[in-house]
Amino acid sequence: MRIVVCIKQVPSTNKVQLHPETNTIIRDGRQSVTNPFDTYAIEEAVRVKEAVGGEVIALSMGIPETERLLRDAESRGVDRAVLLSDRNFAGADTLATSYTLSLGIRELFPVDLILCGKMAVDGDTAQIGPELAEQLGIPHVTDVSEIDSITETAIECKKETDHGYQHLKVKLPALLTVIKDINMPRMPSIKGVLDSQTAPFERKDAEKLDADFQRIGLTGSPTQVVKTFIPERMSEAVEIVGEAEEQAKKARNIINEVLKDGGVEY
Ligand SMILES: Cc1cc2nc3c(=O)[nH]c(=O)nc-3n(C[C@H](O)[C@H](O)[C@H](O)COP(=O)(O)OP(=O)(O)OC[C@H]3O[C@@H](n4cnc5c(N)ncnc54)[C@H](O)[C@@H]3O)c2cc1C
Repeated sequence: MRIVVCIKQVPSTNKVQLHPETNTIIRDGRQSVTNPFDTYAIEEAVRVKEAVGGEVIALSMGIPETERLLRDAESRGVDRAVLLSDRNFAGADTLATSYTLSLGIRELFPVDLILCGKMAVDGDTAQIGPELAEQLGIPHVTDVSEIDSITETAIECKKETDHGYQHLKVKLPALLTVIKDINMPRMPSIKGVLDSQTAPFERKDAEKLDADFQRIGLTGSPTQVVKTFIPERMSEAVEIVGEAEEQAKKARNIINEVLKDGGVEY
């Protein structure tokens, strides 16, 4: 079984730096870590390999420094890694990112299973998994908390929803995004760390991927960030107590006051 795990590099602090003119994210390889949700995807990919055999390939689109994180994945049981890196990929929104990742995955075909994190803690959209599955024309399941069973042709998994869980069976190849309940990621062994320094690692640029330059990077991104700002924090908080009807009346009065203060007639 060939499993691809998608890994994103994210800033190690919660301060995402934006370019003042283009409003795109400034990536600094020195201050970056593996997206936390992706550490669970790595662990799950390695567990599936250990259960049914095969290989795990880590894939990332990122700056050259992302190699460090891919090698870290290799120290945790990933067999080989591919980094899609090119200045032409810069400024990509989720559509351009998922297109680029889909090209990287197509180069690895035949692939049985693709694992992603639930979301990236900087971009936060949770769009890449589903978009990537669409680009590849395969089924996907988001927010997976458990893999129940896997055969050569299908996978059964438990998906978390707003109201509980669903058990779903999908045909392979498929893409899953995983949540942190799925496992407890392992620590790398000393041997793993040493081996990872010489483990197979490949870098691919847009030309090597035969990418359509109209679909990558800023050019291929229909989303344009017009403005970014930090929301103003309101320090005043009111606790509304009492029976439901009483609470509703109090809430309505507060809303009326706020609307009047803001010059809005209600
Ligand atoms: C207009 C615009 C401009 C942008 N400009 C830039 C820019 O200049 N530079 C920049 O770095 N970012 C930029 N971004 C952010 C970038 O588009 C997103 O970070 C990226 O598309 C992933 O989306 P996300 O972070 O919401 O990931 P999510 O969809 O939340 O991630 C879910 C999962 O997808 C996988 N995944 C996500 N991204 C990658 C990746 N790159 N490689 C491998 N797996 C991945 C991981 O498994 C992750 O857990 C821009 C976004 C927009 C909208």
